Amino acid sequence: MALAGAAYLLATARADDPTPDGRLTRSSGQGLILGSRDSDQPTTIEGFLTGVVQDVDSYWTNVFRDAGLQEPRVSYAWIPAGQTTASACDDGSGSLGDQAALYCPGDDTIYISEQFATDIYDGALDQALPGSSQGYGQTMGDFAVAYIVAHEYGHQIQDELGAFQRDGDRVPTMQFELQADCYAGTWANSALRDNRLEDGDVQEALDAALAVGDFDVNNPGHHGTPEQREEAWNRGFEAGDPSSCDAYLDEA
Ligand SMILES: [Zn+2]
Repeated sequence: MALAGAAYLLATARADDPTPDGRLTRSSGQGLILGSRDSDQPTTIEGFLTGVVQDVDSYWTNVFRDAGLQEPRVSYAWIPAGQTTASACDDGSGSLGDQAALYCPGDDTIYISEQFATDIYDGALDQALPGSSQGYGQTMGDFAVAYIVAHEYGHQIQDELGAFQRDGDRVPTMQFELQADCYAGTWANSALRDNRLEDGDVQEALDAALAVGDFDVNNPGHHGTPEQREEAWNRGFEAGDPSSCDAYLDEA
């Protein structure tokens, strides 16, 4: 499905705001239909990202409520193509731009570039993601984008649960990354149980997880090999229970 050009406003809103600045497009009644090619699908990448992040947010709100915890709170910012934005995670190398996809604990915001998301959605990334296993897997499709949103939201869950403060110095980066993949999988399981996945969606997520793995195993910033990342997403997806992801930090 071709996407219309993204809006030129930087969308910034709380993920639990039902209608941030009035531009949200959602299907009625049963929530976002992931993978749908019908007219309920948002027609801009911005609308799609917003729909996914709100879907993921409502999933985690239920999980936290069931656990007697306060609902998670996070902001998101979609960066329009060709633009940059400042964040609390600037490390001196410049503001966030067309390559950005991250959760920043410093300002509790998920940042994703609309260009980056569009390229993944359309299968137009002509190379693998930065620092990833080039050519190992292909990222394309709506559920590949959804995987990335859900992964970044997984880091927000780690922040909510105090994992960065508790384990940040003790546990290698890779374990946080694999747990975020696992959390993305548990959310995807909830979409499956709601009959909101279409043929090919699971494969799109698995391919995306493979593609963002890297082989830089001696680098402290190593995020996990393609196989480890695919396995982590699948673990969460098969279990459908976030506690299945505890071991990534507990046993590290
Ligand atoms: Zn990550």
